[in-house]
Amino acid sequence: MPEILVVGSVAYDDVQTPFDRRRDVLGGAASYFALAASRYAPVHVVAVVGEDFRDTDIARLRGEGIDVAGIERRAGRSFRWHGRYDYDMSAAETLHTDLGVFAEWHPIVPDDKREVPYVFLANIDPDIQLDLLDQVRAPKLVVMDSMNYWLEYKRDAVAKVMSRADVVCVNEGEARQFAQTFSIIRAAREILALGPTALVVKRGEHGAMLFLRDGGVFWSPAYPLEKVQDPTGAGDSFAGGFVGHLASVGRTDAAELRRAVVHGTVSASFAVETFSVDGVAAATPGAVDERYRLLRSLVDIGAGAAEDTAPGVE
Ligand code: AMP
Repeated sequence: MPEILVVGSVAYDDVQTPFDRRRDVLGGAASYFALAASRYAPVHVVAVVGEDFRDTDIARLRGEGIDVAGIERRAGRSFRWHGRYDYDMSAAETLHTDLGVFAEWHPIVPDDKREVPYVFLANIDPDIQLDLLDQVRAPKLVVMDSMNYWLEYKRDAVAKVMSRADVVCVNEGEARQFAQTFSIIRAAREILALGPTALVVKRGEHGAMLFLRDGGVFWSPAYPLEKVQDPTGAGDSFAGGFVGHLASVGRTDAAELRRAVVHGTVSASFAVETFSVDGVAAATPGAVDERYRLLRSLVDIGAGAAEDTAPGVE
């Protein structure tokens, strides 16, 4: 089974919604990603945590079968993020970001992990993402994510990461911010012009769009949920299902990329049902499969000439 390497934040979050709040809970882009992707394929995490990081949280990741040997512990504080959502629970407002030990850190990919074929550059300083890319050998697929914070402070470095990735995965606000345009279509064209073969634009409760450099477009709705407690980590969990699926089938053609978008959407649905990583950690293979099937049936319009003709159109 092809394996996955991820670099990104492993963090403690303080998250507020209009309905509830959780302080000091396990979060971070790499944590959500690894938990979601580990449902599909073996995952190796490269990250750094501070002295304050709880052993129980490392043990929790390890207990899920995730390889944590690449998580360094250093003197100082762990990455901390404090965010807030409004009633529509769409974009997070960052109230505070403390990079902690990530500020002065350079990733080191263990020697025996340099040839891992699937690489995910989760949300973190783009210079760290580039540093990791320099250490891996001929990966089969590089997927990257970023965030408004890095687009604001390190736009050029983010563009460099995009140009070295096969798939760029950002949310719609970030795509607009990066390309300085309201039009998602124009933003997609500009990002694809940097070099990646595919762009995924995550649109929260409106699902996700896939744009291919050869002109192909695909759109998956989000999984319809009655209970949404905390959208934090939806994007990272999406990436976990997306990359996880591609690694599990060992192919990255257009048909598998479409299926990967649906798997990503399913993974994200588990993340938002609870605070912290509890939802993704609780997702069983059976539950993932059930949601995948339901989502597929939701968008199945059937086949045949009769159905394909709109009423009144000759
Ligand atoms: P998402 O909701 O999928 O965009 O990701 C949220 C996660 O990203 C949270 O668990 C945070 O700990 C983490 N995070 C927030 N801001 C940053 C940042 N500037 N760089 C890296 N990770 C971040």
